[in-house]
Amino acid sequence: KELLKITQLKKKYDKEIYALKGIDLSINEGEFVVVIGPSGAGKSTFIRSINRMIDLSEGSILFDGVAMEKVKGKKLREQRANIGMIFQHYNLIHRSNVIKNVLHGRLGKVPFFKSLFGLYSEEDKQEAVRLLKKVGLEEQIYKRAGQLSGGQMQRVGICRAIMQNPKLILADEPIASLDPNSAKIIMEHLQTITRERKITCIVNLHQVDFAKEYATRIIGIKAGKVVFDGVASDLTEEV
Ligand code: ADP
Ligand code: ADP
Repeated sequence: KELLKITQLKKKYDKEIYALKGIDLSINEGEFVVVIGPSGAGKSTFIRSINRMIDLSEGSILFDGVAMEKVKGKKLREQRANIGMIFQHYNLIHRSNVIKNVLHGRLGKVPFFKSLFGLYSEEDKQEAVRLLKKVGLEEQIYKRAGQLSGGQMQRVGICRAIMQNPKLILADEPIASLDPNSAKIIMEHLQTITRERKITCIVNLHQVDFAKEYATRIIGIKAGKVVFDGVASDLTEEV
């Protein structure tokens, strides 16, 4: 079933200069898509326009049947609550402990005043603990997030995104700041956890080897255009 339909997506930051020059893509539920391409190709712009972290200039993004470019206010917040984000620099609250950071994934899913006072349900807390154990962070649950290593922080980032119970996860260079070993651990957790929960995933990477290993579909972007769309075995050196 189709989850995302992107039609003629264009993004212009400055006059005349298009970072995206007309992207057409259809992405189905359960796909694990890796977007690759050189620095400045538009990968980040592409991924961030899906949940409207940046606004598109032209075109349309149909997510779960809703035109993202048209919604605002409450409806936009509802749509965003179904899209988990994972960032290169983790974006954790360093002075908060690990479980609180994970529970932040529930923001947008619980009434605002409850989240304000940290009144998460027992069920939510148990789910957060379960997720943290799953990614091997049982010892870190009550540590301050700022004390963790990069690889551990990104595992918290994954748990926070999953805690949203999202339909889609967008990961913008999630392993770009990690050593190869931590990067592998992150990709494996992301793959396993999204597969189990049938969550669609779009990941920006610049490492082609990782893309080949984990993606069910690879999309190559160059100068704001899709130049490759296929499986790992179709990927040749030129792309
Ligand atoms: P990638 O993620 O593939 O490295 P980006 O999406 O970050 O590429 O950038 C695509 C192009 O858009 C680049 O030329 C970049 O300089 C430009 N760009 C990105 N963000 C902005 C911005 N906020 N303002 C102006 N230009 C930008
Ligand atoms: P990252 O993609 O790792 O977040 P970048 O160095 O690509 O970091 O960009 C950092 C910030 O600067 C981003 O918010 C991006 O949108 C913005 N940016 C990137 N290129 C440009 C540009 N040419 N002009 C203005 N802002 C830019």
